[in-house]
Parts: sequence; structure tokens; C-alpha cells
Amino acid sequence: MALKRLSTEQLLGLDKFLVDDDHAHIAAKREVCRSCQGKPCVNACPAGLYTLKEGELSFDHAGCLECGTCRVVCPQSGKALEWSYPRGGFGVQFRYG
Ligand code: SF4
Ligand code: SF4
Repeated sequence: MALKRLSTEQLLGLDKFLVDDDHAHIAAKREVCRSCQGKPCVNACPAGLYTLKEGELSFDHAGCLECGTCRVVCPQSGKALEWSYPRGGFGVQFRYG
């Protein structure tokens, strides 16, 4: 039996999130990000949570896979990102595999 190949959107749709609306576990500092050349987080985040709106970085922690990629690719992660895992009980639940 051949396994069905799922698109990224289909795979993300299999995850379940309990979003902590009172505490964003990742925050990007716009004043630091403004001077970032290339903004690698935009292309590297597998959930597409970093976007550009009129040249300004925008980030939404809802839907985060907690993979840490943004922290690794960010050239100024110590300054630009406040990064932690969600509080207990919140965050992603992988329902497949
Ligand atoms: S890679 Fe880091 S510094 Fe650059 S835009 Fe993204 S979060 Fe900001
Ligand atoms: S931890 Fe992963 S999914 Fe979450 S914002 Fe960073 S790159 Fe995106």
C-alpha cells in the first residue's frame, strides 16, 4: 500500500494548538528586526508565522510548532527574539505519526 503524501498545509492541519492568549512564548523586537538584512525567519519558519507587512516584520505565536528554527537562523537572536516554550498545558499537540 502506497502512503499518501500530504502537503505542508495538510500536515499543519493535523496539529492541535492550545494558544496562550495571555503570554506569547516568542516575541520579536521590531526595532532590532528593522535593520536585519534578509530576515531569514520569514522563509525558515515552517508554520509561516513571520510575515512582512509593508517591510515591517510581523509575528504571531499562535500555531508555533516549537521547533526552534527561528532561534537558530536569526543572526541576532539574543537581541531580537525573546524565545521560550509555552507554559505548561499550552502549545502544540502533534496528532499524527
Ligand atoms: S531573523 Fe531575527 S533579527 Fe532578522 S527579522 Fe527575523 S527575528 Fe528579526
Ligand atoms: S519555533 Fe518554529 S514554528 Fe515556532 S515560530 Fe520559531 S520557527 Fe516558527
